[in-house]
Amino acid sequence: MVPIHPFNLSFRPLDHLIRYMTDKPLKRYIFASDFDQTLTFNDSGYVLSELAGIPTAEFERKAQGMAKLNLVQQGAELAYLVLHDPEFQSRVRKEHLYEVGKRIRLKENISLLYEILKTGIEGYCFDFYVLSAAPVEVIQSALEGIVPADHIFGTEFRYTDTGQIRSIARATAGYGKVAALDQLQAQQQVGPDHIVYVGDGSSDVHVMLHVNVRDGFTIAVSEAKHVSQVAKRTILSSDALAVLAPILEDVVGWPRLRIREFFESYGILIQEWERVRTDWLTLRVAEPHQSKAAIAK
Ligand SMILES: [Mg+2]
Repeated sequence: MVPIHPFNLSFRPLDHLIRYMTDKPLKRYIFASDFDQTLTFNDSGYVLSELAGIPTAEFERKAQGMAKLNLVQQGAELAYLVLHDPEFQSRVRKEHLYEVGKRIRLKENISLLYEILKTGIEGYCFDFYVLSAAPVEVIQSALEGIVPADHIFGTEFRYTDTGQIRSIARATAGYGKVAALDQLQAQQQVGPDHIVYVGDGSSDVHVMLHVNVRDGFTIAVSEAKHVSQVAKRTILSSDALAVLAPILEDVVGWPRLRIREFFESYGILIQEWERVRTDWLTLRVAEPHQSKAAIAK
């Protein structure tokens, strides 16, 4: 007969009990990111123009003209041009969009950011999604093997048999991002305060205001005034991983030393961490009758 050690009888149930008492439920979040200039260095529109043989200056002129008109949601200028501008309409084909995705320059460490957000932070799971006005084919091609295709929401076109763009099925620009995020939130059953949104441009303003007002967390990755004034934090870095710093600090609640050690555990040093609150002031010379100097005279 094999002697039964008294410990063996009690160890397993006790182990289970300890784990039950210490294992806190996982906090689930949606991490939603813009694509152009948030996860990349350049805009898909520029790369697409180059590929289709349209001078980038011409794309810039047309896109800026479109933005000024306010005819389409901010960020949807490219979608409008490929559908309605004769030059873009005649030259751009579906296969160009996949090619743009392969040519676009991505920021460093998007893959590592995806992994850390998903399973790297104890007690937390941030599910990574992309919400962008860029054509969905561009984003899926660029992030192939990094972000699953069904986690990517971009502008969707309908095509002719020859790959020419026939119409728009959905534009994820401006308020379109709010609609896409709401749909995602309902699907994932995550509370509105468990949403983190990252973006850089005017196409992100609506969704950032929407996330902020419902106690979510927003991060701007550019100093563009209209975005950085709305976002709760602004972070400037050429590395996609940098957005982890404000998330770990403000959402997870870690002190800076622990965040630095966390980055180091992945072999990445935070070389500089300057925190600058930007106050935007526009000064002009007062009218003579308003100035103190004028009053004193
Ligand atoms: Mg952008």
